[in-house]
Amino acid sequence: MVRPIVKYGDAVLARVAEEIKQFDSALKSLADEMFEVMYAARGVGLAAPQIGVSSRIFVMDAGGQDAPRRVVVVNPVIDVAEGEQEGAEGCLSVPGFSFDIRRPGHVVLRGQDTNGLDIKLDVTGLEARCVSHEIDHLNGRLLLSRLSPLKRDLTIRKIKKRIKADDW
Ligand SMILES: [Zn+2]
Repeated sequence: MVRPIVKYGDAVLARVAEEIKQFDSALKSLADEMFEVMYAARGVGLAAPQIGVSSRIFVMDAGGQDAPRRVVVVNPVIDVAEGEQEGAEGCLSVPGFSFDIRRPGHVVLRGQDTNGLDIKLDVTGLEARCVSHEIDHLNGRLLLSRLSPLKRDLTIRKIKKRIKADDW
């Protein structure tokens, strides 16, 4: 059974996720499950808090069906974030919304794979947008925090209406 995606309003999304110290089979299973959840929801990235696990790991596949590019990063640290891109962005934890959000155009990050080996990732375009988004999740930050206060308030009001109507 696959865990459901946690949505806005759940405290785990606002928490700073814990560093991962054990590179065991449970971690590999977690990564596999995250890919499963992400693909089922047709997302390009997923951070562990989004399935209720407050650990510093994210998965990403921005390659699409024809050229899949599976990426898992444990304990990611951004070394370089430069340039700028603006574009539409959504979040599986904030379903039904899309926002114009500014992100770095080029990101270099390091971390570990699920075996605990050091990895480095140098990405641009959609992957740079995605890693920036997923690392925000690990720091307890949703894309709503990158909106203007006005737009954010408006969106939260809409979400609260949907929560009230049991449509969330
Ligand atoms: Zn998200």
